[in-house]
Amino acid sequence: MKAEKRDIRAFTKQQLRDFFESQGDKAFRGNQVYEWLWQKSAHSFEDMTNISKATRQMLEDNFVINHIKVDQMQRSSDGTIKNAVRLHDGLTVESVLIPTPTRTTACVSSQVGCSLDCRFCATARLKRMRNLNPDEIYDQVVAIDNESRLYHDRPLSNIVFMGMGEPLMNYNNVLKAIDKITSPEGLGMSPKRITVSTSGVPKMIKKMADENVKFKLAVSLHSAIDEVRTSIMPFNATFPLKDLREALEYWYAKTKNRITYEYVVWEGINDTKKDVDALIKFCKFAPSKVNLIEYNPIDDGEFQQASSKAIDMYTSILEANNITVTIRRSRGKDIDAACGQLANKTQ
Ligand code: SAH
Repeated sequence: MKAEKRDIRAFTKQQLRDFFESQGDKAFRGNQVYEWLWQKSAHSFEDMTNISKATRQMLEDNFVINHIKVDQMQRSSDGTIKNAVRLHDGLTVESVLIPTPTRTTACVSSQVGCSLDCRFCATARLKRMRNLNPDEIYDQVVAIDNESRLYHDRPLSNIVFMGMGEPLMNYNNVLKAIDKITSPEGLGMSPKRITVSTSGVPKMIKKMADENVKFKLAVSLHSAIDEVRTSIMPFNATFPLKDLREALEYWYAKTKNRITYEYVVWEGINDTKKDVDALIKFCKFAPSKVNLIEYNPIDDGEFQQASSKAIDMYTSILEANNITVTIRRSRGKDIDAACGQLANKTQ
């Protein structure tokens, strides 16, 4: 029986070197193939033009390259691009390119669906089907970098893990992908341009702090009152705010990195002064930035964006407490590419 072909991008460079040596070839051939796989993002062994035909055939017989395929690309009237990305097993995720006058940001997915149950998020309705592999995350970034060069005449400048899934529930693969993205043998991007966004998994935030990671952290907070947060993000009952706060204090003590909070203000849910006061109490232990995100409706009107008066109240009280506030307007709403709208609708 013929052995099943192996995923060549699961191999480290050293493993590829060892493999070539075991075949009676030069270890250096492993470096060449590794460069094709990552730096040059080859889609097939045929692309590897400095490798002999016989060797390419041998690779073809033994391995596969599970490259993602951009099945459909949609362009919004505001320049945002959404890719529907087909994985080797037929599942789909989405990633988004968000252009501004000065930067291009890739918003990438870390899981197919999501195991969390935020009641305002379309991805939560898909359930989690599986984790993405490091190469599947890496490929999304490469695809967006190519589109940025093609449509905006510049390379990708930033990456946010704010697509489908909870990155800290696929921690090892997300970290491996970031290693490749930041390595000179991959895309060579600075980790300072990468933000990992989490709904708040305390144990993993501490682990990241211990591992001395260099990327930025964003926390989707939405409420600093347990009762309220649990009603909109039910997993908060398992990871209550006290534990989240303790993990964030640990993160800040170790990294000295400012923490960003993502926060939507909804009418009748978290739009009172009591909510703002709780937020300030929660985040004042470290330099913080609160990103007030515009709500993107996904349902029958159960959640409503709060009035501009409520947003103004948040802004003025936060600023009076020396907390930086930004208001993030939705991008790509017309193609369901905005925060919380990724739900594989184009399938
Ligand atoms: N699971 C991670 C990564 C997803 S990021 C996290 O929660 O951080 C997606 C961001 O969009 C999160 O901040 C999320 O709370 C927010 N979001 C989800 N649904 C939304 C909606 N309908 N409108 C606006 N923001 C939404």
